[in-house]
Amino acid sequence: MDLKRVYLFREGNATMKDLLGGKGANLAEMSNIGLPVPPGFTITTEVCNEYYANGGKMPAGLMDSVREAVKDVEKLMSRTLGGSTKPLLVSVRSGAKFSMPGMMDTVLNLGLNPTTVKAMVDETGNKRFVYDSYRRLIMMLSDVAFGLSKHEFDDKIFKEYKQKVGAESDLDLDADQMEEISQLFLKHVREKTGREFPTDPFEQMEVGIEAVFKSWNNDRAIVYRRQERIPDEIGTAVNIQAMVFGNAGDDCGTGVAFTRDPSTGEKAIYGEYLMNAQGEDVVAGVRTPVPISALQKQNPQVFDAFMDTANKLEKHYRDMQDLEFTIEHDKLFMLQCRSGKRTGPAAVKIAVDMVEEGLIKKEEALQRVTGSHLDQLLHKRIDPAALDKAKPLAKGIPASPGAAVGQVVFDADVAAEAKAGTLQGDVVIGKKVILVRDETNPDDVHGMLASQAVLTARGGKTSHAAVVARGFGIPCVAGAEALNVEVHEEKFTVGGTVVRQGDVITIDGASGAIYLGELQLIEPEVSGAFGTLMSWADDYRTMKVRANADNPRDARQAIEFGAEGIGLCRTEHMFFEEDRLPLVQELILTKDESVRQQMLDKLQVVQQQDFEGIFEAMDGKPVTVRLIDPPLHEFLPSFEELVRETTEIKTRIHMGQKGLEKDLETKMKMLGEVESMKEQNPMLGLRGVRLSIILPGLVIMQTRAILQGAAAVAKKGMKVFPEIMIPLVSTVNELRVVQNALEAEAKKIVKEQGVDIPYMFGTMIELPRAALTAGEIAQYAQFFSFGTNDLTQTTFGYSRDDAEGKFLQQYVEQKILPRNPFETIDVPGVGRLMKIAVEEGRAAREGLKCGICGEHGGDPESIDFCQSINLDYVSCSPFRVPIARLAAAQAALRTKVKVAVDK
Ligand code: PEP
Ligand code: MG
Repeated sequence: MDLKRVYLFREGNATMKDLLGGKGANLAEMSNIGLPVPPGFTITTEVCNEYYANGGKMPAGLMDSVREAVKDVEKLMSRTLGGSTKPLLVSVRSGAKFSMPGMMDTVLNLGLNPTTVKAMVDETGNKRFVYDSYRRLIMMLSDVAFGLSKHEFDDKIFKEYKQKVGAESDLDLDADQMEEISQLFLKHVREKTGREFPTDPFEQMEVGIEAVFKSWNNDRAIVYRRQERIPDEIGTAVNIQAMVFGNAGDDCGTGVAFTRDPSTGEKAIYGEYLMNAQGEDVVAGVRTPVPISALQKQNPQVFDAFMDTANKLEKHYRDMQDLEFTIEHDKLFMLQCRSGKRTGPAAVKIAVDMVEEGLIKKEEALQRVTGSHLDQLLHKRIDPAALDKAKPLAKGIPASPGAAVGQVVFDADVAAEAKAGTLQGDVVIGKKVILVRDETNPDDVHGMLASQAVLTARGGKTSHAAVVARGFGIPCVAGAEALNVEVHEEKFTVGGTVVRQGDVITIDGASGAIYLGELQLIEPEVSGAFGTLMSWADDYRTMKVRANADNPRDARQAIEFGAEGIGLCRTEHMFFEEDRLPLVQELILTKDESVRQQMLDKLQVVQQQDFEGIFEAMDGKPVTVRLIDPPLHEFLPSFEELVRETTEIKTRIHMGQKGLEKDLETKMKMLGEVESMKEQNPMLGLRGVRLSIILPGLVIMQTRAILQGAAAVAKKGMKVFPEIMIPLVSTVNELRVVQNALEAEAKKIVKEQGVDIPYMFGTMIELPRAALTAGEIAQYAQFFSFGTNDLTQTTFGYSRDDAEGKFLQQYVEQKILPRNPFETIDVPGVGRLMKIAVEEGRAAREGLKCGICGEHGGDPESIDFCQSINLDYVSCSPFRVPIARLAAAQAALRTKVKVAVDK
């Protein structure tokens, strides 16, 4: 059977977006519901794929189908393509399934040649309009099809001509001058290409169609698709439509409008138009358009017709519409409609309003808002007006959302001092700071906490800087590789620009952009509609949402955002605080058992206080506390830093400086210790449960601190549900040894305290071996929590701290991987391990509670996967809790639909 390559508008409808593209399907739908749409037809997306499969050749027979369809349009318009009277002109426009605004090509006014130009001048008596249209055709078609840049026509020939004749705007040019410009354009084509501009309308059409196919693979379209995750294989359709003219006189015009305000969601028409102009003038900023409200005064009839149509379309599609229209001699024509792009605040307001207006159901409202929409509501952002004018200094990886302004500092202590107000010098006390580092490490945490934002030259979305910043809700741009950070010089350079300590920068953690100077920020708006939407999400979701929180402040924040428990409390973060680090260091370094015990006792007091604060904040909600996990050297000064410092002291002694011997001795001792603990692969080394086996005192102390803290809170009459979690287990024997010891301790404490504490012991599944032997592990573990950061690292064998900056980006660009597996769960690999672990774990222990606490717990696509393997909860940073609540509801709704379909 012959492939149907061409669909007349009346043969299509809105459901045919795969085949006709979004624009084609909606033009068909609008025609079918009786709206004024100029007639036309669509060449399907399959033809685009055929074109590429053919090695970039137009499929044989395509133009025959086009000729057939043109006949239909000619009949409906009572015009003829290329006719010497009443000629038909058409537009050729791209239109993929998903809108890719401005990324592909468009050609207007096809069909103009010396014969039709004359016929149109005779018919309209408006020579200026005809030549204006002609020069646009020459420019557009030459640009897209013959590789002659539009700018050569527009910025050179046209502009120079206007200057020569003293015209300020296009409207100052008369008919003869427009004719002369058309001739200059034709001459330019002749000179540059060595051929005449095509006069045969079908030839014009054919090159126009081919140019649209080609534009599917132009650089900007490829980049846009990657950004928006639009598949490359779907191809674009081509829409060919009879022209109506917005530039045929003062009773003509063209405009674009949204049926609701796309930035606030307010229910009011929003848009602009220009009289006596053609489509691209409005978007290209050639002339300044006027707000659509002005049309009401200028032409009330057309305005009413437009409002009628806009309302009709919004009701028909039950969504906010983005419309393009043209007015030709006081008659309205619709050229496009599609669901309008909107900001986060607008998406939430429109979704909630439309439920209240009875246009959509709650289920649908929940599916119309995305995680990135909510993200915008939860953080400060750069004022769009300021953003329009600003040019980024550099770009990094958007690692933790929110925007921030601050003075640059390069040292965590300086950041902390700036906040405390004890600093002198470049950084003005009381001013806000942004910590800039090559990369951060646990020593920097206090400085990160004191900063408005963190900027690093290395690392990706799961780097230390990114994870910690997200946990604290601090904006972070990571891996800005263009930055040359010279910490000791207190400066960084980008290209020729030098930014020194004390200089002000603005960073945007949502886009990864870095700006020099201060940009205006806007506060997050948590409006009423936002709360309403969240309560609907809670009604539909079946998975619980917890937060990763390490201190009472974050726990409270998590509760405010609707968390139902803590899924991960990384206890080591408590060790990094200033008053504790020396105790931990002493604990690690001493060889004297009694000193070690003293340190443990001191630490137990402060840890217990922390836990009490967290349990109180969570008020009866479960709290998963993870026992110490990182390699111990992370608590000690860095080896490289110590080498540098000792060399410096030695040099000073060598140069005769006195009184430094003691200092050198201490530093050398530390250097020796740090060196002895150095590992080639610390992430695969002495950490997690392995530490608990080698150094049992530490986790015994932590267990006491947790359970005594829980007992203290229980005695105040509150409920507590501590879940003690043992990390990085790879074999059940590790768990058996550690859990047995800790359970014995736990029983003792409960007895000592005389209160009933419903505690549990469980483990993280973050190594492939643990996942594959989950049945054995579940003999001991009462719950599983998937640590997908480590599980991804060890399944792929990619370093979570380095991979992103080094090769992962290219892997995604070259489609070696569909996406960054540290952001979205790799379903066939990591996901499969998770599924096995859940199934085998629950087979061994009925009702085994399973959750996720890696970064993926806040990623909507990963949350969808978690629903599919029946996890009980997801856990993410407090600031992502609302996003996770929405994503869990969406996942539940999708599963519901799937179950319904399967039945
Ligand atoms: C993980 O590995 O996913 C996890 C949550 O633990 P961490 O990030 O602290 O290693
Ligand atoms: Mg881990």
